[in-house]
Amino acid sequence: MNQILIDLHAHTNASDGSDSPAEVVRKAATLHLSALAITDHDTLGGLAEAEAEAAGLDIELVRGCEISTRSPYNEAHLLGLWLPRDPVRLAPVLAAMALARQRRADRNREIVNKLAALGLPVKYEDVLAVAEGEAVGRPHIAALLCRLGITASPREAFTRFLGSHGQAYVPRQLLEPAEAVDLLVAAGATVSLAHPTLIRCPPEALDRLVASLASRGLTALEAYHSEHSAQDVRFCVELADKYGLLLTGGSDYHGLAKPGVALGRGKGGLRVTKHVLDALKEARVKAGLACEGEG
Ligand code: AMP
Ligand code: ZN
Ligand code: FE
Ligand code: FE
Repeated sequence: MNQILIDLHAHTNASDGSDSPAEVVRKAATLHLSALAITDHDTLGGLAEAEAEAAGLDIELVRGCEISTRSPYNEAHLLGLWLPRDPVRLAPVLAAMALARQRRADRNREIVNKLAALGLPVKYEDVLAVAEGEAVGRPHIAALLCRLGITASPREAFTRFLGSHGQAYVPRQLLEPAEAVDLLVAAGATVSLAHPTLIRCPPEALDRLVASLASRGLTALEAYHSEHSAQDVRFCVELADKYGLLLTGGSDYHGLAKPGVALGRGKGGLRVTKHVLDALKEARVKAGLACEGEG
């Protein structure tokens, strides 16, 4: 049996992770992972550094991203894997990400205004100073609130201020899941519905969502994830099977921004084997898609 491990879901400081892209790649290589996907929110800004670092190490780097989409429940997140390098094929994805970042920026300003109205000494410039990359979001505001001693943890910052029941909550305009799938499929990416059970919707609603996305070219479900129980994994595997989808898996590593989630290992029990990668690549080859990001 193939026991070689991989991780197809990791964030860097290009979005809301704490490690630089090169650091994440080095950590993955040290753990002897054979493949790593960098999947930052709304930016491909970390990929060049990650690829350059991986080139000198014994690890396969998969060019990825994560896009948040609208849902009546929790957000539905879509992972794009093996994004092309070709600027023409990539252009619509980059444009959608740029718009999403602009909407994040607008929302961040509104959140800061709400925090200021609550009497808190939070300035928009200070949020930007916390962020190291171009995709700036609520986790950076949470980090600032902690740095200012207003909250003791990011979790408390979300509960009291930033989460959907928080005092400074501002919703964000998002794509429909189908729009994100269409964008990523048109770019030639492998598309996986991230952490499906974290959408926290009734099983019938998840079934309907997966059925409709499968009909548009969704490739896989992220059955293996740090927050998935053994029962969640089984549920996802069965759902994938029902709609002829493949599986992906990853830790959703964020470094210090998500303490307790380790690269490759998640909360300790995560094991995503190279079989998962091989099946995804086999499907890409069959579909005439490149596996090195040249497509
Ligand atoms: P945003 O992308 O700006 O809407 O922020 C969403 C991100 O915030 C998620 O990807 C999580 O990493 C983080 N997040 C959401 N809820 C919480 C929470 N309760 N505690 C800590 N981090 C959270
Ligand atoms: Zn994140
Ligand atoms: Fe996610
Ligand atoms: Fe993620």
